[in-house]
Amino acid sequence: MNRRITVKFATLASCFGRLESTPSRNGMIALLARLLAGAALDEIGIVCYFVLGEIAPGYSAVNLGVGDRTVAAAIALAAGTDLSDVEAAVRETGDYGDTAARLIEAPATGYLSVLDVYRGLSRIAHASGPGSAEEKKAILARLLTAAPPPERRYLVRLAAGEMRLGVGEMTILDALAEGFLGSKAERPALEHAYNISSDIGLVARTLLEVGLPGVRAITVTLHRPIRPMLTQRVGRISEIFERIGSPVIAVEEKYDGERVQAHKDGDDVTLFSRRLTDVTAQYPDIVRHVRRCVVADTAILDGEAVAFDHAAGTYLPFQTLMRRRRKHRVSEVAGEIPATYRAFDLLYANGESYLHQSYPDRRARLEEVLRRDDHISPADRIVTGDTDGITEFYLACIERGLEGIVCKSCADDSFYRAGAREWQWIKWKRDYAPGISDTLDLVIVGGNAGRGRRAGTYGSVLCAAYNHEEDLFQTVCGMGTGFSDRDLADLPGRLAGARVDREPARVMVNPPAVPDFWFAPHQVVEVLGLEITESPVHTCNWDPARRRGLALRFPRFVRWRDEKSPEQATTTAEVAAIFGRQREV
Ligand code: ATP
Repeated sequence: MNRRITVKFATLASCFGRLESTPSRNGMIALLARLLAGAALDEIGIVCYFVLGEIAPGYSAVNLGVGDRTVAAAIALAAGTDLSDVEAAVRETGDYGDTAARLIEAPATGYLSVLDVYRGLSRIAHASGPGSAEEKKAILARLLTAAPPPERRYLVRLAAGEMRLGVGEMTILDALAEGFLGSKAERPALEHAYNISSDIGLVARTLLEVGLPGVRAITVTLHRPIRPMLTQRVGRISEIFERIGSPVIAVEEKYDGERVQAHKDGDDVTLFSRRLTDVTAQYPDIVRHVRRCVVADTAILDGEAVAFDHAAGTYLPFQTLMRRRRKHRVSEVAGEIPATYRAFDLLYANGESYLHQSYPDRRARLEEVLRRDDHISPADRIVTGDTDGITEFYLACIERGLEGIVCKSCADDSFYRAGAREWQWIKWKRDYAPGISDTLDLVIVGGNAGRGRRAGTYGSVLCAAYNHEEDLFQTVCGMGTGFSDRDLADLPGRLAGARVDREPARVMVNPPAVPDFWFAPHQVVEVLGLEITESPVHTCNWDPARRRGLALRFPRFVRWRDEKSPEQATTTAEVAAIFGRQREV
């Protein structure tokens, strides 16, 4: 029985407004819980996607593709004004949503439900070919004229992919638990379903329709990515056995390429990146290798796409592979930089999920279903029971140009833990040494205006680590060095989409670190630093009693990590672990 009534888009827009001005994460959860608990079955999934600024699960390759020009043209059409007026207003407001709310003065011509907006945006997403820009513009303009003014702001932000409510999937899971189950007690079940389906809308719909048993019954499905399992790190090789919890472990080569999850369904192959986006079109060669060499009818493999120079027998750096990340001339560039697939796990085969099988069982099955050749093979590895064995294999890997090793537990409970960073997998990399020589992946949450040579760009950016337990971004450092002139010139453009006018709710900043500009957690950056120290300024691992957090000293920009989402950044617990290890040395 579904006694809920259709949600007006107006109700949603007013909730968005309140979410934007809610200073606390708990406040956000309460608002979202009320909103979701009132949604109808055919809307609840859409409401979740809208809150995240999307119209479908992230992996589905449904891309609105409404560029700034089309958005501006649609606003001009709806407002009955010139494009130049829209552009002038955008320069003033800095935001297309605010511009639409300001310029379109006509009263609403209709009433929009969430489903009306969804249908309109879906048609925009699916418009393609010649004339599609005009079609997108016309549909968006019609939606804008139908909607009352406050809704126009969010319609435009949705279409332009700039919602910036600062809500993440974990916040929605909390809200679902509160709204439907009355507490967070059963939240792990919701999180598990999300980890294996990567579809928050599906979890919400199932919870509403069937309840918790339905959510527990969500299973691995082909062409729907599983959130990847991640690795932990240690300070000394000798610590690996203490942490991993099995007397014998597997030590695998660690490849510096792109994480790729391959779904094979007969001849149909889909590839997903670590951020769960569909990267099938980027790797036509890996598609062919999977089709040719995976001998099961259906299978899901986890592994790494690497650039391998077959003539020289060496691995090429990550940057070489990233040259393939492009929309045009894919096959040509793929020919110049062929990709090789190293599979390190098997998650599903012939209709059966392997997530709850131990790593040794999954590996044995992987070797059965994957016929190896030069272009595709299971990751090379050894199995050992002593630290010297690890060290020898590690040194041999480094000699062959690899970046390190990944040690894997062989215990009976060494299941594949989707989306988790636990001690079953531990990495050890070439640049590890006492102190902090590994980089941190941090999220940009603020920026200070540049002066002198840096006028017109940012002088420094405020970086945060992710507190997974509290779903918060806590600051670790301000960073102004390591940028090339080109990086600096690119900064304003890169950060423009994330700019917000107040401190985002999931960001925790102490007064001395308050930046000139705020950014919603979006951009992930790799940072190298000298050491972690205690700090009264930064909020990472904040101890309210001692009024001390942790900070990274001498941070330097290394590179952008566009393939990582903010929630995949280095966690505050990892920063604390590095700090703890520094003290031991
Ligand atoms: P890093 O920057 O050290 O590559 P990361 O922060 O991107 O790490 P981690 O989870 O810390 O991600 O390291 C694991 C990553 O290493 C995986 O996401 C995967 O892409 C890569 N990798 C390479 N070889 C292996 C392997 N044999 N087993 C597991 N992961 C591997």
